[in-house]
Amino acid sequence: MRCLVSGGSGFIAAHVIEALLKNKHSVVFTVRSDEKGQKILSNHPNSPKDQLSYVIVKDIAQPCAFDEAVKSDPPFEAVLHTASPFHFNVTDPKKDLLDPAINGTNGILAAIKKSAPSVKRVAITSSFASIINPSNHAKVYSEKVWNPITMEEAVQDPASAYRASKKFAEEAAWKFVETEKPNFTLTTICPPLVLGPVVHYFSSLESLNTSNELVRDLIQGKFAKDGLPATRVPLFVDVRDLADAHVQAVEREQAQGKRFFVTAGFFRNGDVADIVKKNFPEYEKKLPGSWEYVPKDFGFDVDNSRGKEVLGLKYRRLEDSIVDLVKSLQAAGA
Ligand code: NDP
Repeated sequence: MRCLVSGGSGFIAAHVIEALLKNKHSVVFTVRSDEKGQKILSNHPNSPKDQLSYVIVKDIAQPCAFDEAVKSDPPFEAVLHTASPFHFNVTDPKKDLLDPAINGTNGILAAIKKSAPSVKRVAITSSFASIINPSNHAKVYSEKVWNPITMEEAVQDPASAYRASKKFAEEAAWKFVETEKPNFTLTTICPPLVLGPVVHYFSSLESLNTSNELVRDLIQGKFAKDGLPATRVPLFVDVRDLADAHVQAVEREQAQGKRFFVTAGFFRNGDVADIVKKNFPEYEKKLPGSWEYVPKDFGFDVDNSRGKEVLGLKYRRLEDSIVDLVKSLQAAGA
């Protein structure tokens, strides 16, 4: 299939692109600058131009941002929309998080409908953020559950704004399909904290993607004095399994029209520290002297069966994700 991947410079997108190329799909990815596009191409020296290329989309929040990017010769058959801001350095929750997430999703879907009728399948990277209700947990989280956050609550703090950005963006996508009846089917993928090796373009360890920051901080000694922070989201998935979920979402007929909650299961920051201590004794002095396993009781359960049954997912263990992440950070100078 010929695929368009938005947000090619992202941590997750890098693995999605690799997984698509491995399955012999051809890929055009979007980036904000030629510099980023060229850097990613240089990481794939064996992929010819007709297999891998890029197109510039400077700001997904802007109207019509994707109107040119969705046009291709040969035409696209699938679109994987991963681009969305994931960070908490927010001065204006609407401008920094909500607008790019929601406008970006509506914009790419409208552009496909208008200018890319050959596209038959669209997969969107949503999030566990669009499922979880931290103030009143569901007994069991699954694809059936939706975060009830409102726009008023969204602007209260950066974490709420991020959760709302993902919830409203995913909701907008399902609404688009329902009301616009486009030529394509939609699949959404909802991962919790994504961990695993970094292969994407990033300029420094300081600008590492948000979900891997904890491990970087741990091996750099940030918690040595004050101890580990409590676990914020006690669920994870390895980025390579998540990339596989994206590929299966556009390849498998039975995945169409479905939402997938993809998680390997629970973890605590204490488990991460255990793995680092066991596998990388060179960091022992950077770690806290001891740690607790917080939370002790998660307060909810999860049902991840749909991804296993429909997408055929097999989840890596936390130890595989952390060991390979640390090795990749070492290769980047940590
Ligand atoms: P990254 O920060 O590594 O990637 C985000 C990507 O989105 C980058 O390519 C970034 O481009 C692009 N982007 C953000 N805002 C804009 C904008 N206004 N205009 C154009 N491009 C933009 O994050 P991840 O790879 O971790 O996240 C990818 C997706 O996965 C997001 O949708 C995120 O919400 C979702 N997700 C991530 C989880 C995680 O734990 N990592 C968990 C659940 C969901 P640039 O680099 O140029 O800024």
